[in-house]
Amino acid sequence: MPSTATDHATELARYLAMLGASEPAGGLLELRYRNPSQPGTMRQRFHHVGNTTRMAREITLLAAHSDVYVGVAPRRTHSGGRHAVSRSWVLWADIDQAPDDSRTAALPVDPGVVIASGTPGHQHLYWPLREPLAPDELEQANATLARALGADQGPVLGAATILRPPHTLNHKHHPPTRVTLERFDLRPHTATEILTGLPAAPAPPARPEARVHTNGSDPLLTIAPARYIEVLTGQTVGRDHKISCPFHDDSTPSLHVYDDPAKGWCCYGGCRRGGTIYDLAGAVWQLDTRGADFIEIRRRLSRLFRTSDEGQAVPAER
Ligand SMILES: [Zn+2]
Repeated sequence: MPSTATDHATELARYLAMLGASEPAGGLLELRYRNPSQPGTMRQRFHHVGNTTRMAREITLLAAHSDVYVGVAPRRTHSGGRHAVSRSWVLWADIDQAPDDSRTAALPVDPGVVIASGTPGHQHLYWPLREPLAPDELEQANATLARALGADQGPVLGAATILRPPHTLNHKHHPPTRVTLERFDLRPHTATEILTGLPAAPAPPARPEARVHTNGSDPLLTIAPARYIEVLTGQTVGRDHKISCPFHDDSTPSLHVYDDPAKGWCCYGGCRRGGTIYDLAGAVWQLDTRGADFIEIRRRLSRLFRTSDEGQAVPAER
């Protein structure tokens, strides 16, 4: 792997060109970034698919102080939601445990691009496509790959997914760790070639279900959604029970806030995210709602809302 800053910028631009591929004129690549000293403030920019050199330069500058993400599928409008996606030029999978080589070896086509996202064992795999797929087919294909790999089956399969580009820094860790390019073979394949012989996964659900992660006595799951949404997003929930979705450009507030903590929240603006306090915190902090990340989410929420680290209520002062 090349190691100079110039080589990294060139590779980053080629990675962005892989995502934009042959997207017709007007296509955009979405950039999102958050400075960890301002949690909850995710910022968003768009570049034309042809502007990869300039976008790579911007990503490099931002990465010095921020976690940076790129929309894997090009957008047709200045929005990060699924409705802004017409097609994707890659398939992908998100591995959050040390990769199982026997599962990877059983795939008909090796992933061309492998990115280590800066957390041990976490990898993003990409398969460049000869012909693009529309969102429904794409999500089905990603689900089939994820099932074959034993990989994350959650919202990361969705057409609106954002992932860390290579040669940036993962600021979840102290000191920050490098997001590295482990393999970089841009030869495209057809979806049929990539999925040959793999059992088709059921289509992903249209909307995320509110998931309950612990038993009914979890005090974090009794906090009113309007309260935790204000704390986690900095937005006040209006009388119409809505806020602007923090995960994309959302001029007409489309994230609905329910009264019932079991229902939580749901974005009807296209990104289709939703769920409990854990799902919102995970999305805002870019942490997985499973495994070690989930424990970290609960630890931070427990601090914020004054419950103990185990999720038990702290005895009230009387
Ligand atoms: Zn949304």
